[in-house]
Amino acid sequence: MERSLILLKPDCIQRRLMGRVIARFEDKGLNIIAMKMMRVTPELAKKHYAEHVQKEWYPTLEGFITGGPIVAAVVEGLEAIRVVRDMLGATSGLKAAAGTIRGDFSSSRQMNLVHGSDGPDAAAREIALYFREDEICAGELTLRPWLRAADE
Ligand code: ADP
Ligand code: MG
Repeated sequence: MERSLILLKPDCIQRRLMGRVIARFEDKGLNIIAMKMMRVTPELAKKHYAEHVQKEWYPTLEGFITGGPIVAAVVEGLEAIRVVRDMLGATSGLKAAAGTIRGDFSSSRQMNLVHGSDGPDAAAREIALYFREDEICAGELTLRPWLRAADE
């Protein structure tokens, strides 16, 4: 089982797409094991996007991600990191394939609605930025035996 950090970015909240996006992750069979609405501070933005802080477009990204409430969540599932990234689609909504979240709902390279961790190290680092260990509500769902075989 893998865990991935999901952020519903401010555009997702403002456009009232939270429910539809969360429904896609639930429909896929991913378990939401932590979730909260919050504001990203400039300090948290710089930690979250450490790999981009030096880029010339970082100030606009920080303005965007701190510009309104977000929803942070941890999803868990088999190959959850790749599965989520595949569901999001390419970074730019203009390039993301139809059928992906960004491809279906975004026409922007910045306002692309949802963040998903891009690898196991990033996932562990990012989850720790947003959640304390005691905020994560892991546990077997009763539905699990009908989502995949016992040996998967
Ligand atoms: P991803 O979220 O797909 O992993 P990146 O790590 O490349 O994408 O970028 C992080 C976020 O920064 C993107 O999701 C997007 O919101 C924003 N972003 C990416 N490229 C640009 C850009 N050229 N100008 C402004 N914002 C950008
Ligand atoms: Mg990235």
